[in-house]
Amino acid sequence: MLTQTLDQQYLAHTYNRFPLEIVGGKGSLLRGADGREYIDLGSGIGVNIFGMDDDEWRDAVTAQLGRFQHVSNLYYSEPAAKLAQMLCERTGLKRVFFSNSGAESNECAIKAARKWAAEHKGPEYCSIITLRGSFHGRTLGTLAATGQDVFHRDYQPLPGGFLYAQPGECEALERLAAEHPCAAILFEAVQGEGGVRPIGQEFASCLQEVCRRHDLLLMADEVQLGNGRSGSLYGYMNYGLQPDVVSTAKGIGGGLPLGVTMFGERVADVFHPGDHGTTFGGNPVCCAGAINVLSRLDEKMLEGVEERSAYIKQELAGAKGVLGVSGLGLMLGIQTEKNASDIIAACREKGVLVIKAKDKLRLLPALNIPMEQLQKAVAVIKACCAE
Ligand SMILES: *Cc1c(COP(=O)(O)O)cnc(C)c1O
Repeated sequence: MLTQTLDQQYLAHTYNRFPLEIVGGKGSLLRGADGREYIDLGSGIGVNIFGMDDDEWRDAVTAQLGRFQHVSNLYYSEPAAKLAQMLCERTGLKRVFFSNSGAESNECAIKAARKWAAEHKGPEYCSIITLRGSFHGRTLGTLAATGQDVFHRDYQPLPGGFLYAQPGECEALERLAAEHPCAAILFEAVQGEGGVRPIGQEFASCLQEVCRRHDLLLMADEVQLGNGRSGSLYGYMNYGLQPDVVSTAKGIGGGLPLGVTMFGERVADVFHPGDHGTTFGGNPVCCAGAINVLSRLDEKMLEGVEERSAYIKQELAGAKGVLGVSGLGLMLGIQTEKNASDIIAACREKGVLVIKAKDKLRLLPALNIPMEQLQKAVAVIKACCAE
C-alpha cells in the first residue's frame, strides 16, 4: 500500500492507475504486490514484446551494460549502427534516426517531411494530413498531428500545419490534398488508441494513390502495431504499402525506451549534420536489446502471432456479450455489450490483465505468450463478457 500512497501524494495525477502494483514476473505472468499471479495481455502497452524478464533479451541488454552504457552521438558505437543495418535490410528503407519514444519518432518524421517538401516543392508545402481518430503522441507537435479534439483542448495554441481526413473517405482525402499545399500523409494502419480500428485495404490503397498523385510522402506510424504485432514485420506490409517514412517505438525496445524513424529512398538524405539530434537516442543498451528483438522476429515468430490471433478471434467473435473483434495480429479490440471498464476489473479479479482503447477491451499480449496461458486468459475474458 505504501507505493500507492507515495504515488498519489508525489506523482502528477496524469494517470488513473488500476489498483494493482506489479513487483515482478516472468514472460506473460506478472506478480502483484498482493501476492497474486496475473496473466498479462497488455505487455506494458505493447512494449514488453517477449514478456517480462525474457532471458535472451536480458542477456543482450546486460552484456552491453557491462561494456558501456552511453557514449553520445558525438562518437561511433556499434549497437546503433548494427541495428540500423538490420532495420534497413528487413524493410528496404535506407536510413534510420534513433530517438527515445514514439512521440519523438513522429516528431522526426514530421520534421523530415517539412524539410523534404520545402526543398522539393517549396516552403508553402508544409501541411501534413493525418486521420481522425489517430494518436501520434503527447509532444505539442504530435498532439497537433493527433486527429482527436479531446487531446487538443487544454493546450492551445498548438503548432499549425495539420489537416485531418476521415478514415475510409477517399474522395474527401483527395480533395484535401488537391486544395492545400501538403508535404505528407501520416497514418496508423490500425488506429490503436483510437479504438483498434484498421484502415482497411481500400483506404490503405487510396492513401498510397493520393500520395503518388500529389507528390506527398506516405508516413506510417508503426509505434504500436509494428515490430511483428500485426503478423507482418510492420503493419503497412499487411496492406502491401510502400511508405517513404516509418516511425516505431514501443515493442522494438523490448522494454527499454527506443524510438526509430526510418527513411526510404526519397527522403534518405534530407537531414544533414545539425538538422536534427538527440542526447539519448540510439542508446547502446536499448539498441543491444532491440537487436535481439529484431533478430527473433522471424517467419516462425510471425506465424505464431497469426495462430494466436486466429485463436482469440475464433473464441471471442460471436461469443456471448461480445459485439465484435477488430484489429490485426496481436493488436485486437473487443467491443462488448457490458461496459469495458467493468469487464477489465472483473478480469483482473480473476487474474487476467487487459487494457482499454476507447470503449473496447484492447489485447496487446507478448508475441510469444504460451498457448496455454492465452487459452486460460481468453476463457476468463469470455466468462466476464458473458456474465
Ligand atoms: C503510443 C503511441 C505513440 C506515442 O508513443 P510514446 O512512446 O508514448 O511517445 C505514438 N503513436 C502511436 C500509434 C502510439 O500507439
